[in-house]
Amino acid sequence: METAPPDPVPASLVVVRHPLVQHKLAILRDRGTPTKIFKELVDEIAMLMAYEATADLALDEVAVETPLERTVGHRVAGKKLTLVPILRAGLGMVEGILRLVPAARVGHIGLYRDHDTLEPVDYYFKVPGDAAERDFFVLDPMLATGGSAVSAVASLKRAGATRIKFLCLVAAPAGARRLADAHPDVTIYCASLDRELNAQGYILPGLGDAGDRLFGTR
Ligand code: URA
Repeated sequence: METAPPDPVPASLVVVRHPLVQHKLAILRDRGTPTKIFKELVDEIAMLMAYEATADLALDEVAVETPLERTVGHRVAGKKLTLVPILRAGLGMVEGILRLVPAARVGHIGLYRDHDTLEPVDYYFKVPGDAAERDFFVLDPMLATGGSAVSAVASLKRAGATRIKFLCLVAAPAGARRLADAHPDVTIYCASLDRELNAQGYILPGLGDAGDRLFGTR
């Protein structure tokens, strides 16, 4: 099946092509993968993607006493990284990243689509107060139309955030373009840039409804 998108890839998009990510993604896409395995795979892929997305975190030098002598080590500088899952499917990516960065804080963003304007509106928004001093990872497995992603990033910026990355598993070209155009400073990480959206807003070939598959609500 063809997965390559026709549009030019936004400069701010990083496709994580690590073989383990691609292997796990293929199992995730499979309609026969049961909920338990799907959840485990989302968790594992999120962790591997966070490994890539944390590659440029700033470091401070720190003195360390080994059993043999004093040396200089490094630790992540500044305030704790903050994960912000977009409810509800983004929750599936949190635990895997926390295993990699256990000290990370976790905020939450809940969005609904206004019936009249069709624009996303926050119904829940909670992040640490000192947003300007933190690195944020916004999490949502599917970057489809990009409406929620653009809105979530805008809410974070209004709260003072300046260093934001967006982590998803599968992106549609239209969503990646919309997020990149609205927030060119936000690097987008995905495991695959898929072909297109269908008329119902599902990504093709995609993996179906990520929330339903994660939580068994189909
Ligand atoms: N949300 C999903 O869960 N799946 C899609 O394909 C698009 C949006």
